[in-house]
Amino acid sequence: MNTTLTSVGPTAAAFPLVERIETLLVDLPTIRPHKLSVATMNGQTLMLVKVHCSDGIVGIGEGTTIGGLAYGGESPESMKLAVDTYFRPIMVGQDATAVRALMARIGKMVKENRFAKCAVETALLDAHGKRLGLPVSELLGGRLRSRLPVAWTLASGDTKTDIAEAEKMLDLRRHRIFKLKIGARPLRQDIAHVAAIKRALGERASVRVDVNMAWSETDAAYGMAALADAGCELVEQPVASAAALARLVRRFPVALMADESLHGAESAFELAKVSGADVFAVKIEQSGGLFNAQRVATIADAAGIGLYGGTMLEGAVGTVASAQVFSTFANLQWGTELFGPLLLTEEILATPLNYSEFELTVPSGPGLGIELDEERLAFFTRDGLRKTISVAGQGG
Ligand SMILES: [Mg+2]
Repeated sequence: MNTTLTSVGPTAAAFPLVERIETLLVDLPTIRPHKLSVATMNGQTLMLVKVHCSDGIVGIGEGTTIGGLAYGGESPESMKLAVDTYFRPIMVGQDATAVRALMARIGKMVKENRFAKCAVETALLDAHGKRLGLPVSELLGGRLRSRLPVAWTLASGDTKTDIAEAEKMLDLRRHRIFKLKIGARPLRQDIAHVAAIKRALGERASVRVDVNMAWSETDAAYGMAALADAGCELVEQPVASAAALARLVRRFPVALMADESLHGAESAFELAKVSGADVFAVKIEQSGGLFNAQRVATIADAAGIGLYGGTMLEGAVGTVASAQVFSTFANLQWGTELFGPLLLTEEILATPLNYSEFELTVPSGPGLGIELDEERLAFFTRDGLRKTISVAGQGG
């Protein structure tokens, strides 16, 4: 593209280049243990990428996982290593403005590593948005909405505690969609837990569950029928296999959502082909980036599958990157779960995100539209001023 850069010599590039890539691991405590069938999290580690460009612009991106390696093949540490060792030589010296071309170049030379690719793509888009004075959503075709409904996950494991937490969220007018993490306990105990919470909240809230693949197909058939009876609206990834999802879908009056089964556009297409879900939980990291998340959404739309904006419990950077993409979806029937930053005890932004009236405002400034509080970030950076929260604190 044309730029306003002044040429300083015959060899000066006509466009800003990627000059330097910086990666850091930031360890942040969570407000309470977050219990999933696969792990209990007591903290979250953000892998942040800063892409420094020759025009002085710095873009930022984030890679985050759920419970270290408990959820998938990438960890914050492995992402840092992949970016430092393999992405960096592919990116440095390249046109920083040709984001899709650069991502295609990375795609040719790096297989898999969807989360790391997402972090790097986010940083390139943030930089380019800052350069053009446009929010990332506009680089992705433009937003259809600037406010996103945000669900809250009740994951203390205790029914009374969860009800009290839900009541507090309703009073604060922060959330009225609640997702319960189940699957770690005996089936009947889990169903009783969900039913008690739905009974307490009634029509004031939507209650949904995420089983994180913990059930057998037989458990799921029993569980989905019982959950439908209890007034639960949606069951997320009760079983691991896509074929089993397809056998369970529409047998019970409760929506079935695919999450872990989605690893980008190809898996979305395979699942859509067999009508394997009513709803897709689209995540930018699972999809392999922001553009790829849009491809997943397009496939869902074409197949008549509903959309939900998912989270990998990202911090503020990944959350806003997700919000920028979800704001561009033609349909977003089931809202989002972009509550990641609210689960952390520490604010890493200069200006906190706006969560109010049950929704998150998608920032409208250039790029991601956020600014990091560098001092706080340095404090929580691993091997930074503070020698990390104990690694055990990450809870696996
Ligand atoms: Mg899930």
